[in-house]
Amino acid sequence: MKITDVVSHILMIPDVHEGDADSAQDNLVVEIHTDEGIVGIGESDTNPWGAKALIDSPSTHNMGMGLKDILVGQDPLNIEALWDLMYVRTMHFGRRGLGVSTIGALDMALWDLKGKALGQPCWMLLGGARQSSIPPYASLQPQGGELQTYTDSLVDWVQTAKDFGFKAVKLEVTLTGPYAHGGLDAPEEKTVDVVEAVRAAAGPDLMILVDVQYAFQNARQALRTLKHLEPLDLYFVETPLSIDDLDGYAYLHDNLDIRIAAGEWQTGRFEFIDLMDRGKVDVAQPDVGRVGGLTEARRVCHLAEDRGRIIVPHCWKTGIGIAASVHMAVNTSNCALVEFLPSELCHSIMRKELVTDELRMENGVIPAPTKPGLGIELNRAVLERLKVG
Ligand SMILES: [Mg+2]
Repeated sequence: MKITDVVSHILMIPDVHEGDADSAQDNLVVEIHTDEGIVGIGESDTNPWGAKALIDSPSTHNMGMGLKDILVGQDPLNIEALWDLMYVRTMHFGRRGLGVSTIGALDMALWDLKGKALGQPCWMLLGGARQSSIPPYASLQPQGGELQTYTDSLVDWVQTAKDFGFKAVKLEVTLTGPYAHGGLDAPEEKTVDVVEAVRAAAGPDLMILVDVQYAFQNARQALRTLKHLEPLDLYFVETPLSIDDLDGYAYLHDNLDIRIAAGEWQTGRFEFIDLMDRGKVDVAQPDVGRVGGLTEARRVCHLAEDRGRIIVPHCWKTGIGIAASVHMAVNTSNCALVEFLPSELCHSIMRKELVTDELRMENGVIPAPTKPGLGIELNRAVLERLKVG
């Protein structure tokens, strides 16, 4: 079998809100075609215009090739060798960031293609099931531009998630910092009041995660507030500091009795090695597309396992990436949860309708998928409606 074409689509929802911390408003979807008619599908949570340019651009030298040029004519089943080839031949400008995230979409599509060709789900091809199912957590984004409505909306969201069958939720509590919600600029210590109110309403049994989205300016300042969260039995606190303040992350690990989670933006395993060894994060959060696809995500999971760290993947796009996350999780013994907000609870049409048969939660868990490849199909009409490039 040979790769004959690589087609990439830039998608955008009609009602984009530039001020929202919501990356599910655009998308890069790729399709890898073969001479046997089998097509693999992938996506990446990155800048889709830049990613498409890296795929379609002509090759000018052997350290700066176009990704489509690299893949066409190759055997699509030879995935790890193709990953290495894409990495080495784009090293000049790729290596981290957008370059690796674009490779991630293509790698995801190669795994989907291989699964379809061999009639196996991706988790089986990754090495088999080390877990038969995976519990999801619901990411809850509050509404309201002042503190009381913001808190009330989170309490309502938690009830909705519990009614839906979730045993774990993540509260987005971003009152201050560069990504503060809805123009809020509340004192950072109010974070504690919000989480206390939700814990009181939710009761002791719900697993609660908190994402403050890089809110604090430095580790000492973060510690002053986060110390007050210790009695609230949180599973983790996500991204308290700028992701480049790795020494600050290590300081929090050493001084706070709550797990610290980070990694949603990391691209490639080398960034995760830094995050775990220098930043000492307890929970690594690879996003399968961004980190470099299932090939690189698996390497990150193994590196985390060797270090006794927990994996909880980031995933905030469509049913394509969710499926990839679940296949990775099923193959990963140290994966505790996957991020999963059912499409019924989302507003983006892309999230709700791009994939026709997305994975479902049953009895509080997502069972190992059974269909070949990623196990999802694109809704072509929705793809064409949202396509802007
Ligand atoms: Mg986050």
